[in-house]
Amino acid sequence: MQGLMQDVPLSLDIIFNRAEQLWPTKRLATATPSGLEVVTFGAWAERTRRLGGVLDDLGVSEDGRVATFAWNTARHLELYFAAPCTGRVLHTLNIRLFANQITYIANHAEDEVVFADRSLLPLLWPLIDECKTVRHVVVMDDTAGRPDAPELPSDPRVLDYEELLATASPHPFGVVTDESTAASMCYTSGTTGDPKGVVYSHRSVVLHSLSILLADTLAVGERDVVLPVVPMFHVNAWGLCQAAVMGGADVVFPGADLSPEAITRLIVDEGVTLAAGVPTIWMGVLPHLAGRPHKLRRVVGGGSAVPRSLSETYRAEVGLPILQAWGMTETSPLATVAFTRSERAASTGEEALADLRATQGIPSPLVELRIADPESGERLPWDGATSGEVQVRGPWIARQYYNDPRGDAQFSADGWLRTGDVGVVSPDGYVRLVDRTKDLIKSGGEWISSVDLENEIMGHPAVAEAAVIAVPSERWMERPMACVVLEEGQELTADELRAWLAPRVAKWWLPELVEFIDAVPRTSVGKFSKKDLRARFSDRRVP
Ligand code: AMP
Repeated sequence: MQGLMQDVPLSLDIIFNRAEQLWPTKRLATATPSGLEVVTFGAWAERTRRLGGVLDDLGVSEDGRVATFAWNTARHLELYFAAPCTGRVLHTLNIRLFANQITYIANHAEDEVVFADRSLLPLLWPLIDECKTVRHVVVMDDTAGRPDAPELPSDPRVLDYEELLATASPHPFGVVTDESTAASMCYTSGTTGDPKGVVYSHRSVVLHSLSILLADTLAVGERDVVLPVVPMFHVNAWGLCQAAVMGGADVVFPGADLSPEAITRLIVDEGVTLAAGVPTIWMGVLPHLAGRPHKLRRVVGGGSAVPRSLSETYRAEVGLPILQAWGMTETSPLATVAFTRSERAASTGEEALADLRATQGIPSPLVELRIADPESGERLPWDGATSGEVQVRGPWIARQYYNDPRGDAQFSADGWLRTGDVGVVSPDGYVRLVDRTKDLIKSGGEWISSVDLENEIMGHPAVAEAAVIAVPSERWMERPMACVVLEEGQELTADELRAWLAPRVAKWWLPELVEFIDAVPRTSVGKFSKKDLRARFSDRRVP
């Protein structure tokens, strides 16, 4: 017997239409160099429909990729809806990637147009001829007329966002009838080589947004003022902006100024109730926010482990602990949240609750989670002691990468995502990450590939071999440390090595710590034993 309920496709139009109808007076505020720019949801919706018209006017193909190279702003949110609601695919380019990764991604996704903030043009424009499919660069002027604003290139490909919008007709939307149609895509760094593309569908975005509204996840609601500090170019600002539109929450966008002072000012002056970012951000904000009046009800931390001590200091000095969440680009990203279950709250003391908040949390509804032996695939028990690879399955979890068979090994034969994170799970479902099988370093919320960095170091003529490991950093959570073996009779200083690397990798990849060693320790099968290196240098820290 079949159920007899309506089979309505879950498309982003539903979220958009409801916001347009129900929340016309809600506010989207963007920090700019000349102060806060505020639009109502009503005005935003009208602009978003006209932006849909702009995409038609530019001749972007039916499911063409619409790239963004932009900070968190209300304009960026216009693109978040105009692209998918007209059947196109939003592609948020990560501005922190190294130049050749950006061009690889733009070419791989076959981006037809890039919408770029003017302040970011110096990063984007030198790459544009390498982006073979890009026909237009639409500039969003976020510089508020400052004299030091980057020059606009005199090139027919360069267009102005507001000029295009002024003459465009509103798009009716409603073209998406198949909920599995692609809505947006993000690339994520792999252990080696080029980043891999994750493609979200309308259905996955709608369900993920809904999940963010649930009381026991992030509980975004109509009474909230949401500050996504996490970038809109990194897993869609964890889905918070789409969830805010769905739930009718005001949004405050930080724009280009992510300094602790600016973020604190926004939290205090704009009555922010929910703010989300990586621990590095909360570390910086803490001394500015401590003791100040605010309306925060949730400070969400994720992207890297939230240190227990940081969360506890927030509890003592800001008045609420950090709510930890875990996920990844492949999981949209919200997969687990460390809320306190009532049985634990009733039976456990403050110290144990702090331990609980330092876990990655319990799976959200519709997300299934298991731990498994990474080699044999054998499922392991939730006993709070046995560790295994965390694997997840659910309607907003990727099943494949975009045109990239390299990533197939990341999906189990029975269709679960192998996350590359290693954890233990308590009998009542709290995941605690203890390690990572992927050879990557997460610094300030963005990835450094140890293997890519090692290859660049080993390209130096004086270097025989090199291994890069992560060392703890109070500010960045992790930083790379290079362990370098020199060729017989060669000399090299740490500064000379950094000078060699500087033109070859992103600036923030440069290792502060370089250790010259006699040999890289090996495992029984001859691979670099990073475990031994980590043990040998366990006392190393970067501030
Ligand atoms: P990304 O795809 O760049 O968002 O990175 C996802 C990865 O970041 C995960 O697989 C974890 O390794 C790490 N990560 C995300 N959230 C957390 C967290 N709360 N604690 C520890 N690691 C995290």
